Amino acid sequence: MYEHLEKWGVSKKIITAMNKIDRKLFVPENLKDYAYEDIPLTIGYGQTISAPHMVGIMCQELELNEGDKVLEIGTGSGYNAAIMSLLVGNSGHIYTIERINELHKLAKKRFEKLGLTNITAILGDGKEGLREFAPFNKIVFTCYSKKLPEKLLEQLSNNGTLLIPVGNEFMQILKKIRKINEKIIVDDLINVRFVPLV
Ligand code: SAH
Repeated sequence: MYEHLEKWGVSKKIITAMNKIDRKLFVPENLKDYAYEDIPLTIGYGQTISAPHMVGIMCQELELNEGDKVLEIGTGSGYNAAIMSLLVGNSGHIYTIERINELHKLAKKRFEKLGLTNITAILGDGKEGLREFAPFNKIVFTCYSKKLPEKLLEQLSNNGTLLIPVGNEFMQILKKIRKINEKIIVDDLINVRFVPLV
């Protein structure tokens, strides 16, 4: 199904995980016919589920491995978290935060239905991160910020990676931030378009 993502540099391992999670379960009833199109779709409340190629690229750039402890800001439909859950395996864990209760509850139900027990879905403000579970070796924002998230960098482990779209409502740059020997290294990856961090 997602073999075409190889041309975006997405690994076979990620494509296999994506093939196992049915995107149809994560989109609203009236958009089920479009579930397998490589486009973002609205999920209500002004929010969107990312296009599959974007999910693939973000998992690739996060360099997810078995055992990773991941924090996701913006659960949305839960699709990205579900794929990350397979990639980190039972020795890893996904903490995902969402501010809209209806989306949070729906996503939680989907994780339960799929038996994804290594995901903890939390209702709250992702800007604060999750101090009680920090540090994380991977942090991913699926919404854009106007500036680099200083507070969240404190919750990133040494040698950890944080991905975040930074910019304005029209255009953002996906930034890959690594903490190497307590030094912060920022790389600009690609232009992207996400909904805002509120
Ligand atoms: N990863 C999602 C896409 C999420 S869209 C998926 O796979 O479907 C971005 C989400 O970020 C939206 O649901 C939005 O409500 C949420 N969001 C925005 N600001 C937030 C904040 N401060 N804290 C938590 N969630 C936030």
